[in-house]
Amino acid sequence: MTAKLVKGTEIREEILKEIAEDVKKIKDEHGKVPGLVTILVGENPASISYVTAKIKTAKELGFKEIQDNQPDDLAEEDLLALIDKYNGDDTIHGILVQLPLPKHVNEKRILNAIDPDKDVDGFHPVNVGRLMIGGSEVKFLPCTPAGIQEMIVRAGVQTEGAEVVVVGRSNIVGKPIANMLLQKGPGANATVTVVHTRTKDLAGHCKRADILVVAAGVPDLVKPEWIKPGACVIDVGVNRVGEKISEKTGKKIAILKGDVDFDAAKEIAGYITPVPGGVGPMTITMLMKNTLASLKFSLEKN
Ligand code: NAD
Repeated sequence: MTAKLVKGTEIREEILKEIAEDVKKIKDEHGKVPGLVTILVGENPASISYVTAKIKTAKELGFKEIQDNQPDDLAEEDLLALIDKYNGDDTIHGILVQLPLPKHVNEKRILNAIDPDKDVDGFHPVNVGRLMIGGSEVKFLPCTPAGIQEMIVRAGVQTEGAEVVVVGRSNIVGKPIANMLLQKGPGANATVTVVHTRTKDLAGHCKRADILVVAAGVPDLVKPEWIKPGACVIDVGVNRVGEKISEKTGKKIAILKGDVDFDAAKEIAGYITPVPGGVGPMTITMLMKNTLASLKFSLEKN
């Protein structure tokens, strides 16, 4: 069997088109657009490229966008004051503080200072709690897990009653996606098992999975014989395993590999995500969706 490729690059385009249509409609009806601010402290090159990509997407969608880059030595109190300013700004619906922050700043204190109703990353404890409760309590789903759920649903994979196995228990991927898929409701209603470094018989659990979500950060961890024939395999892992020269730009780029042995797994799975081009492109897309949702919540409130 050759698995159907579930490409984030394609699903992203579908969702961005839907967002752009909504933005236009809301602008016509209410004269408002979603507002997103990214706050970056320091000059970490990877962080600069992440915030630049987020702001570029926001701009293309017709959002109000602010890329607020601050010096490396910005005092914690000044950063808190900046967040407070955006918390009180009615034209800003999403505040994203790019991590990691410099060592002199208490990351937890900063993230907790963001208004939970503008926390479009979905990492504030209030939003983690809302996710746990589920249903109408949920405001913002964390972006990578939200992207994974969209991919599963849009690929036409049935989650209702499915055996889901999630490899990894991080706060940004493993735990939230497990929580989301076990909730009552469409795109969920699954029976979920979470496995991790202390799990006995990892292979045995994976073999039961109708939907296998792998977020371990270990290249080729999941072997083809661990995959149930026909299963949906979502490979979240992004591992740098070397470098090569890009054919397009002539510059050195990283060789990326997922957590699943893709070439062998695609012959057994029913659906599989590639790396790169799978889950990766979904994260920024879901950030845009959350920012739009935040504007909609604010319109409902007023
Ligand atoms: P993490 O290191 O915080 O967590 C990894 C989890 O995997 C841990 O809970 C650990 O218990 C488990 N694990 C590690 N090795 C294992 C093993 N040998 N057997 C069983 N369990 C094992 O990582 P994370 O932040 O959740 O990210 C996981 C992977 O997903 C990374 O490769 C990361 O780069 C990638 N990622 C991609 C995106 C994206 O594409 N947008 C977003 C976030 C993370």
